[in-house]
Amino acid sequence: MTSTQPKRDYTIIAIDGPSSSGKSSVARMVADTLGYTYVDTGAMYRAVTYDFISSGISLESDADISTRLSDMTIDLHAGDRGQEVLLRGMNITPYLRTPEVNELVSEVAAISAVRRRLVEQQQTIGTTQHVVMDGRDIGTVVFPSATLKIYLSCDLESRVDRRLTELVTQGQDITEDEVRENLMHRDHIDSTRVDSPLRKAADAILLDNSQLTLQETHDRIIELLESRT
Ligand code: C5P
Repeated sequence: MTSTQPKRDYTIIAIDGPSSSGKSSVARMVADTLGYTYVDTGAMYRAVTYDFISSGISLESDADISTRLSDMTIDLHAGDRGQEVLLRGMNITPYLRTPEVNELVSEVAAISAVRRRLVEQQQTIGTTQHVVMDGRDIGTVVFPSATLKIYLSCDLESRVDRRLTELVTQGQDITEDEVRENLMHRDHIDSTRVDSPLRKAADAILLDNSQLTLQETHDRIIELLESRT
């Protein structure tokens, strides 16, 4: 996918990396420290997936996908417990991390029409405010000239542990093997898709946080930003 980047006067921190590498937690913390807006782009792909599942459309039908996307509104708000997502005016935040959405989101995110729609909205957000945005293609496609680009990596077993703890805390009945399988499945689709595959931008800084605490990862990103500005 090609993308033209709008003119920008704001600081953009792009954080990309595989599923459950800790992007969202650290991106939210960095945004809080700096007073920037935090944008979890994964939640936007999850919202589209939720919309497609609940409307029962076929992912094989370009016409159905285009019809659903044509009148879809996705609004992001800062809530007490992080970013909230309103789909067509309805708060669907509690439904974004269900097993059904987890299973299908990478297939939906591989559809170019979906990516075009969401990338445009993400770029617009960055024209009016300072943002910390996390995802898979922020440094490569959404904001190729972001102020700071981080590629957050983490070993698979640490990611499985983190994700399992998160889901069990939410009350989901899921095994470690199921979590591992879902992460590997999404990593595979995300990094091999034709449109905007997950990869480190050439000028992104690789930060492996397998052995770092959230606070240490946050501090490193703040230091890197300070050395840039
Ligand atoms: O970040 P999270 O795990 O919630 O993202 C869910 C899915 O959304 C990813 O597995 C990926 O398929 C897709 N995604 C994407 N591009 C982004 C953010 C997320 O393709 N910028």
